Order: sequence, then structure tokens, then C-alpha cells
Amino acid sequence: MRKRILVTGGAGFLGSHLCEKLLGLGHEVVCLDNFFTSARRNVEHLLDDHRFELLRHDVTESIIVECDEIYHLACPASPVHYQRNPVRTIRTAVHGTLNMLELARTVRARIMIASTSEVYGDPKEHPQRESYWGHVNPIGPRACYDEGKRCAETLAVSYARQYDVTTRIVRIFNTYGPRMHENDGRVVSNFVLQALQNQPITIYGEGQQTRSFCYVSDLLEGFVRLLALKDDPGPVNIGNPSERTIRELAEMTIKMTGSKSVLKNEPLPVDDPTRRCPDIGKARALLDWQPKVSIEEGLGKTIEHFRSFLNQQGS
Ligand code: NAD
Ligand code: UDP
Repeated sequence: MRKRILVTGGAGFLGSHLCEKLLGLGHEVVCLDNFFTSARRNVEHLLDDHRFELLRHDVTESIIVECDEIYHLACPASPVHYQRNPVRTIRTAVHGTLNMLELARTVRARIMIASTSEVYGDPKEHPQRESYWGHVNPIGPRACYDEGKRCAETLAVSYARQYDVTTRIVRIFNTYGPRMHENDGRVVSNFVLQALQNQPITIYGEGQQTRSFCYVSDLLEGFVRLLALKDDPGPVNIGNPSERTIRELAEMTIKMTGSKSVLKNEPLPVDDPTRRCPDIGKARALLDWQPKVSIEEGLGKTIEHFRSFLNQQGS
């Protein structure tokens, strides 16, 4: 059945891929974004599709959009961006989510909230299961995002309990792929761009901290399955459990790009989580979901994307 689906943050990295996927599934898509960390060019190729609409709007202001489903992704996601204006980040995470839940309640739409592995903070449990309550510094530089997202989760469960809104919470682990913003500051885009330009690869700290990288198409398949699920499963981790150190990622990027870059250590940011890896048992059992794209394949596609981006810049 064709649905009308609102994607907030729809011009961003994940949002633009999600808009494409939903159109591909035959739905109508309303993409809402204020372009804080993205550009229209991410969705320009969709503008000719009569089932696609682009709305410039800030989620911290309320809005009514008739729709059947909402994927609420609007929020800066990279530490560089979300720490630049922490008050704005909290406002987006909290007021923005409140507004979107209120919208879901008004138009009776199902809503999925994009949460994050950051709700686990610098975890003391490894790998992280959904039952773990986390270890978050409430006053550190990452708190505007981490606590904002924790509050967004609380808002979602409260709207479900109090107003019977159908809510789903996805805890997203580090996801990468084409269309990450070139100035995003996250590790995959930084390393690939540095390697392709033979610039030093900036490893924060010794590079022994770990992350588990999920390719964007795998993540989105999880999103769609989660929102379609009949009963509320509570928060669900979606990510790739293949864990590696940041140094390993740097070495792999140099090898795959054939780069002459050298590794350069820079200070480790405050409260940078030491280890991160999802337990995806819940997603496997309830959504019959697991990632399919290996890091070699996903990184290869990301490298190709940034190679052509740099070629266009040069031409
Ligand atoms: P992104 O920065 O590319 O996209 C975020 C989008 O939201 C951008 O288009 C931005 O302009 C928009 N936006 C920001 N504030 C807004 C506001 N007030 N009103 C309207 N639009 C606004 O980042 P992304 O990686 O695509 O992340 C999307 C969502 O997924 C975010 O909620 C993020 O917290 C979550 N997430 C992403 C990852 C990841 O690894 N990519 C990990 C965990 C959680
Ligand atoms: N990182 C790094 N060099 C960079 C960017 C990031 O070593 O140029 C590290 C960062 O300190 C963190 C990891 O890579 O340990 C992932 O950082 P990112 O900002 O991508 O996401 P996070 O998981 O920290 O939100």
C-alpha cells in the first residue's frame, strides 16, 4: 500500500538515502530539513519525482503535515557539528522530537525516532545490549547530544504510554557511506578525504578506541523493518557488530586508496568512548535483520563517492 511518509532531516546523509529507498518502495515522501548540516544537492535528483516534496523547516517549530509515517532524523550527528552550538543541539533533540511526536499524535502517524549508541556513553558493558542504561557524563562536551537523545527516547516512550502514539526507537551505531558531508568531521569521511589527497590521517589519541561501522543500506533496511513491526519492541540497536580500532580503519583506508598518507596523532577528544559495539540479537530475532555489506565493500563505495566529489571540485 502506498503511504505518505515524512522524513525529517531528509536532506542529510541518512535521510537522503532513506528518501530514495522509500520512493523506491513506491511511497510518497515529504522531506523536511533546515539544511543545518546538509545541502539541497543531496536530494536534487529526487525533485523531478512527483511523489517527492521538499520542505524547508526547522523541527523546533511546530508543523502539521498529513502523513501515515514519520522517520524523525533531524539533528546534527557529528561531534564537530553538535558541539558547535550545544544549546541548539539540545533544542533540536528535545523540542524537535516533542514537536514531531505531537505531529504524530495529531495526524495519527507511526513515528520512528533516530536515537544513537551515544545513549550508552562510554560503556561499561560490552557489547552493548538495549537493556544497558549507559554511562553518560551529563555535563561533558558530548552531553548536549547524548542527553538530548536520551530525553528524545523518554519523550517517545511517554507519548506511547500517555497518548497511545505508535513509536519506535532505533539506536543507530556508527554508519557511513556515500553522501556523508565533506566537512562532517566524522572519522570515515575524514580518513577517506585525507587519504585521497595524500594528507596526514588524523588519529585522535593512540587510535586504540574501537567503533563498529555499518554501511548505510544495511541500516535503512533495519529502519523499515522496525517501523513496520506490529508490536513495540522498545529500543532496538541497528549497527554492524564487526568491531575494529580506529588505527585499523586508518590503515585499511590507506591501503584501499593506494594513498601515500602518513598517520598523525592528535589529542583524544574529552569523553571519547573507548569501545563501542552493538549486540544485535534483538534486531536479528525480531526483525530478521543483520548487516550484509562488508567494510571492504562499503568503504570501497565510499571511496568512489569521495573520489568523484574531489574530481568535480578540481574540474
Ligand atoms: P546529517 O547531519 O547528515 O543529517 C542530519 C540532518 O538533519 C541534516 O540534513 C540537517 O540539516 C538536519 N537538521 C538538523 N537540525 C535540524 C532542525 N532543527 N530542523 C530540521 N532539520 C534539521 O546526519 P546523519 O548521519 O544523516 O544523522 C541523521 C540522524 O541519525 C540524526 O538524528 C543522528 O543523531 C542519527 N544518528 C546517526 C548516526 C550515524 O552514524 N550516521 C549514528 C547515530 C545516530
Ligand atoms: N576520530 C579520529 N580522527 C578523526 C575523526 C574521528 O581518530 O579525524 C575518532 C574519534 O576520536 C572517535 C572515532 O574516531 O574515537 C569515531 O569518531 P566519529 O566522530 O566518527 O564518531 P563518534 O563515534 O565519536 O560519535
